[in-house]
Amino acid sequence: MRAVREGQHVVVLGGGPGGYEAALVARRLGARVTVVEKQGLGGAAVLTDVVPSKTLIATAEWLTIAERAPDLGIRSGAGPAQVDLSAVNTRVLALAAAQSADIRARLEREGVEIVTGAGRLESKSRVVVSHDGRDVALDEADTVLVATGATPRTLPTAVPDGERILTWTQLYQLDALPERLIVVGSGVTGAEFAGAYRALGSEVVLVSSRDRVLPGEDEDAAELLEGVFRSRGMEVMSRSRAASAERTADGVAVTLADGRVVEGSHVLIAVGAVPSTSGLGLEEVGVALTPSGHVVVDKVSRTTVRGVYAAGDCTGVLPLASVAAQQGRIAMAHALGDAVEPLRLGTVAANIFTAPEIATVGYSEKQLQEQGLRYVTTTLPLARNPRAKMLGMRDGFVKLFAHPQGTVRGGVVVAPRASELIFPITLAVANRLTVHDVASAFTVYPSLSGSIGEGARVLHGQVRGQDG
Ligand SMILES: Cc1cc2nc3c(=O)[nH]c(=O)nc-3n(C[C@H](O)[C@H](O)[C@H](O)COP(=O)(O)OP(=O)(O)OC[C@H]3O[C@@H](n4cnc5c(N)ncnc54)[C@H](O)[C@@H]3O)c2cc1C
Repeated sequence: MRAVREGQHVVVLGGGPGGYEAALVARRLGARVTVVEKQGLGGAAVLTDVVPSKTLIATAEWLTIAERAPDLGIRSGAGPAQVDLSAVNTRVLALAAAQSADIRARLEREGVEIVTGAGRLESKSRVVVSHDGRDVALDEADTVLVATGATPRTLPTAVPDGERILTWTQLYQLDALPERLIVVGSGVTGAEFAGAYRALGSEVVLVSSRDRVLPGEDEDAAELLEGVFRSRGMEVMSRSRAASAERTADGVAVTLADGRVVEGSHVLIAVGAVPSTSGLGLEEVGVALTPSGHVVVDKVSRTTVRGVYAAGDCTGVLPLASVAAQQGRIAMAHALGDAVEPLRLGTVAANIFTAPEIATVGYSEKQLQEQGLRYVTTTLPLARNPRAKMLGMRDGFVKLFAHPQGTVRGGVVVAPRASELIFPITLAVANRLTVHDVASAFTVYPSLSGSIGEGARVLHGQVRGQDG
């Protein structure tokens, strides 16, 4: 990287992954950088979303592993492990605060100016920050990056009260495990929390308006997970739309659209997120928004106004911290005249942190089918993998997709720590490796990644068969 436009002033609205990663790149390129943040550095990703949820899930993961102990010959006289939710949440919040402090320290070290308050655009180059009832105008900006994220979507008929009717940001205030948690919404967030609280020891009812959990994800993976959920004693209510939630004398009652009522001690509303784009002055300066309120951006994060860029969940491109960070980096490279590689969503690796985890990269089978693309595929159940047998793992699989001429097009890994196992497939997809390339690389014996090598060998056979 080189300092391309020394002395330029970049103002970043929002200190989440979209904003702080961009700020670091802009500093490296020699710009003067101001980050405006109203809540805390690291953004929702660090303070309420990714870091807290994955820290909570780390505790749940330990309990899930412990479930396999009897199969591995371990006898514990003390009965099942108990969770002290108050201690878990104290750890979660401390970890999030420490991570936020680390990010602040890093930005300060790099010479980024941090301004506390809510920023808004008065013109395309003039940002005003409100804090403690006062408005302060920042120095004129050459470039503005909007990275204001999103907040949980709520229903007017199920207003969160922070005690019994909760959004995911409020879960960490609970000091005792919910006896019976109703989770409304079976997308990624709903599925992750439903699985985690079940493992922690709550009774869980998952209310899904769709036919099965995780709509839009690989069907085999979603079906497997739903089976695992049920086998762990979770009640999964499919084709059940929640209409409202109210408090009762000692808990909550969720009324479904068909009139049925589900009772529980707490309800988590996990029905998506709304972009934080109102009141920022965006439309007033000419920045186009979609009907859902997301900022319209192109593959180099430009909005419809020259000099104003946007990154992350406020754009609705793909709500992942890794994508937000990449959009922010690309925006700064473009704005400051460095080499730019447009965003390539086809190589994004994503993971659902359930037990087992579901990791995906590249084309999904649905996309291949819908786009009429030719492909070969193979699925290897985890239960046949020798390492998985030794570890007592049964539920999961490795699925690979390749072009009939051999290029790896995508993959799905359903396994404990699939988030780690997906990386070789990501490398293959990103670098257009062939199944032959993957098949000819060594894997450790015995290892879970052996199934990736094995899958590539199976496909290599099919590809050669087609060539012949
Ligand atoms: C429960 C949950 C779990 C998740 N887990 C994962 C995961 O495991 N992996 C993953 O990749 N993604 C995960 N995500 C998605 C991830 O959290 C988001 O994609 C990511 O936070 C987006 O980053 P961002 O920078 O766009 O926004 P955010 O992280 O939301 O940061 C935006 C920041 O802007 C600030 N802000 C808003 N308006 C203003 C203003 N006017 N002035 C100043 N500051 C402002 C906010 O205070 C906030 O700090 C999860 C999401 C949820 C809900």
